[in-house]
Amino acid sequence: MTALGCNVNSCTHNKDNCCCLSSIKVEGSSACKCDETCCGSFYEADSETAKNASESPKITLNIACDASNCVYNDNQKCNADHIDISGICASEACETVCATFKCK
Ligand code: SF4
Repeated sequence: MTALGCNVNSCTHNKDNCCCLSSIKVEGSSACKCDETCCGSFYEADSETAKNASESPKITLNIACDASNCVYNDNQKCNADHIDISGICASEACETVCATFKCK
């Protein structure tokens, strides 16, 4: 399991700069830099009220990852101790990035 910080406050799954999902999918099968990755589990919240108040932030979660060029990618799973997803004003998944991506 990987600890995850996420500043994508526009995502319906975000609470307190953490993710409420138990697993996410990072995309970017041909990525060579952070900007070419994204959180495929992003889902835009229509408004603050659209967020599910009963969801609770997860400190660690399972991360499936397509970015096979990343040093932390182990058989399509992330094996980093901690990653950060960024995209403060994102309205689409492609406006988010895995800031921890490191090219092999
Ligand atoms: S952008 Fe991804 S990591 Fe961040 S809260 Fe949304 S689903 Fe979770």
